[in-house]
Amino acid sequence: MPDLNDHRDGPRDECGVFGIYAPERDVSRLAYFALFALQHRGQESAGIATAVRGGDIMAVVDQGLVAQVFDEHTLRSLIGDMAVGHVRYSTTGSSQWENAQPIVRNDQRTLALAHNGNLINAVELHSELRAQGVPFRSTSDSEIIAALLETHPAEQIEDAVADVLPRLQGAFSTVVMTDDQVVAFRDPHGLRPLALGELDDAVLGGPAYCVASESCAFDLIGAKFLREVEPGEMVTFSSRGVRSQMVAPSERRAFCVFEYIYFARPDSRMGGTVLQVARAKMGEILWREAPVEADLVIPVPDSGNAAARGLARAAELPQDDGFIKNRYVARTFIQPGQELRRQGLRLKFNPLPEVVAGQRLIVVDDSIVRGNTTRQIVQMLRQAGAAEVHLRISAPPIKHPCHYGIDMSTREEMIAHGRSVDEVATELGADSLHYLSMKGVYQAVGGSRGTHCDACFTGEYPLAGSEDASGKFALESALPLVRA
Ligand code: SF4
Repeated sequence: MPDLNDHRDGPRDECGVFGIYAPERDVSRLAYFALFALQHRGQESAGIATAVRGGDIMAVVDQGLVAQVFDEHTLRSLIGDMAVGHVRYSTTGSSQWENAQPIVRNDQRTLALAHNGNLINAVELHSELRAQGVPFRSTSDSEIIAALLETHPAEQIEDAVADVLPRLQGAFSTVVMTDDQVVAFRDPHGLRPLALGELDDAVLGGPAYCVASESCAFDLIGAKFLREVEPGEMVTFSSRGVRSQMVAPSERRAFCVFEYIYFARPDSRMGGTVLQVARAKMGEILWREAPVEADLVIPVPDSGNAAARGLARAAELPQDDGFIKNRYVARTFIQPGQELRRQGLRLKFNPLPEVVAGQRLIVVDDSIVRGNTTRQIVQMLRQAGAAEVHLRISAPPIKHPCHYGIDMSTREEMIAHGRSVDEVATELGADSLHYLSMKGVYQAVGGSRGTHCDACFTGEYPLAGSEDASGKFALESALPLVRA
């Protein structure tokens, strides 16, 4: 039976970050709308911290969706022309309020920090800081970065970041605000995305800049995409203008290939490509890799939409909606009673017998992790009268966990772990199954293995020591929650 609080039976991103420096402008509303655009990256908590240059940092952080956490009143209370914002999806057991971001620390230096990623040396760094008597109020590795920066003896935050960044191992796209500047930095491998934008109507106090996990946040607030923050780069916005410094260069780049496949919004731009276009190409290549006699192509909405369009185009087959999706199934969904429980996934997807009955279907989705949802989708289509169900997945089989900020199931829970493709097809009840090849993914995104991470598919982790890293999980289980 599906867990109806579980939005999808797939991997989940853990965070979206935003930062803005816009002299003499009121930025809380801009931060709110930017987070609204990044909502897909995290739905469990949201927060904005603002500051007027030279003044105190104010923050509103709470559990819930962006629209639930903020209202007119809270936004009006967040005064400032600089801001950092955050949306978070938390891993099991770590959804407590204390782990919501931005993290504000103000003992030795006042700062607010928003982080997307996962430190693989969190336990060592945490022990070191605790031994120095540094207090923590959360179990998140993000607070370790905040604490390292807060307690660093350098007068300038830029110097502190330049010194701390090489000590951090793992994935970190991070934005920090002090009382007079905003600093954004990205890990040397560039595992998680971070884009740089400029506000179009910069008139009042001079040029205004922003950074965000995805460029879709810029569109909503009238900013234009300038470029991606480079792996290992630190970008600073202050009264001295914009400064870029390469503080931790690395020869090995490892951008998460799953961002192209699923995590990021289709209207975001990454690695020089708009994701909607890349996903349609994945569908085209899927068809070329595994054509099959069929009558109709249907996507699993919305994750399979773009790839289904590309596949249908390449196959010269009609495409239709085989399911209607209820878009309002929220994470806080009320559990149905036993009677309704067997309806399971129908609360989210309702198949259309008028479309699928008697048809040989190609069903397109972006990925399969545990397979529970896919199995039920196949069952629902058969109950609705589908003659055949051929699954086409625009990602290779997921067989390994992610240690870089994405919540996947354990290896044992992954349906492709230890099974051949044919065995998975049988498990899912499908007539055939094809996963896009790794080569096909890179062909679609115009990239190469040498500059990306594809460890959840291949098991080849780009950072030494990742195989043993248990990141946040270890931090939470091995160390007691210490409150400041
Ligand atoms: S392991 Fe997978 S999800 Fe994690 S960073 Fe690498 S490609 Fe992305």
